[in-house]
Amino acid sequence: MSARAGIVVTGTEVLTGRVADRNGPWIADRLLELGVELAHTTICGDRAADIEAALRFMANEGVDLIVTSGGLGPTADDMTVAIVTQFCGRELVLDTELENKIAAILKKLMSRVGVGAGDFDAVRAANRKQAMVPAGAVVLDPVGTAPGVIVPGAPTVLVLPGPPRELQPMWRTAVELPAFQQAVAGRTVYRQDTIRMFGLPESGLAETLREAEQDVPGFAALEITTCLRRGEIEMVTRYEPDAADTYRRLSDYLRDRHWQQIFSEDGSQIDDQVAQLLTGRRIATAESCTGGLLSARLTERPGSSAYLAGGLVAYANEAKADLLGVDPALIDEHGAVSEPVAEAMADGALRRFGADTAVAITGVAGPGGGTDDKPVGTVCFTIALTDGESSTRTLLLPGNRSDIRERSTTVAMHMLRQALG
Ligand code: ATP
Ligand code: MG
Repeated sequence: MSARAGIVVTGTEVLTGRVADRNGPWIADRLLELGVELAHTTICGDRAADIEAALRFMANEGVDLIVTSGGLGPTADDMTVAIVTQFCGRELVLDTELENKIAAILKKLMSRVGVGAGDFDAVRAANRKQAMVPAGAVVLDPVGTAPGVIVPGAPTVLVLPGPPRELQPMWRTAVELPAFQQAVAGRTVYRQDTIRMFGLPESGLAETLREAEQDVPGFAALEITTCLRRGEIEMVTRYEPDAADTYRRLSDYLRDRHWQQIFSEDGSQIDDQVAQLLTGRRIATAESCTGGLLSARLTERPGSSAYLAGGLVAYANEAKADLLGVDPALIDEHGAVSEPVAEAMADGALRRFGADTAVAITGVAGPGGGTDDKPVGTVCFTIALTDGESSTRTLLLPGNRSDIRERSTTVAMHMLRQALG
């Protein structure tokens, strides 16, 4: 037994890519957590025939649950409820209690923006449209102004609004409903574990996994996906609870070969680990080619104000000299992208911020900035500690400008982990 679902994302702005789809991936994660298998996500514009076709496709695939996102607003291009109603072979009926609820929300909104009650009749019609629901459906109260619905059947259809801040709370309500639980009654409770690695090429992991397929008994019970993110490899394994031993054997096998590259097995990200290690310390950054991305990344974790003193972006040579006290002669001699300059920048950051930990990044993110001996992608890093050894290294990072910049911040994070760990 298992339960399968399909996601139908609607919205011409999402179809065209003007708005990046945040609902499909978000719902996909929630389904995964529930142990419901996601068969497909489709995206279509605000066109009745296309929405209908997507629903039809999912039903033909035999899914137990279809989740739709978008098209619940008051305007004519919002038509999802009407189409789902027809698709489920139901009548569209006015829910007067719901109409009153929406009216109350709208009145409150209008008074807040200073529109008098007399003008309310103008929005009545739109209000009424949003209160039309499929007969026999369960109504989900609006989070904004649009209600959602869940229509039980084969498949059951859950209709959610487009704005993520409305969709997410409504999803949580919907999941608790008997109509939802019945639709996914066949779900399997899966376990999911993540191993994160840095400094191992994806092909290296692929080779290890090919060998593990022979060497680890029961390997086939593990569903493994690997992906490359910000220069790290993330390996996610999904398995049924009775394959837990097999997973343990696989993780031992990996640790055996790649212990130097594995940095997380408990779901933690490098940023969490660095934040932990920085507790009680004071860090400053000095950045050139990354333009402040590292200090921005360090501010992402809650509580970072306790350890992040600040950061300087020194792009021009004069700025490196004036703000960080880098000796111009050093830049003349070695070039701005060099280990001595990275070291001097880190020392400057320590002094300037009265910090005990500093990171400096200077590199060629290109294009056009490279030379024969320092091609695009050459980046020098220094970690300086007042109470420990400093470390400096130079790497040649692949990719385009944004890859190189992002990768550089990841390298700096891993160097920090090593220095502080
Ligand atoms: P509204 O009452 O706001 O019209 P709605 O349910 O009709 O709500 P849509 O009209 O489909 O929703 O979308 C409204 C806005 O919500 C979009 O312009 C977009 O900014 C955001 N949105 C919709 N779908 C998505 C999505 N899949 N991912 C990210 N944002 C989305
Ligand atoms: Mg809309």
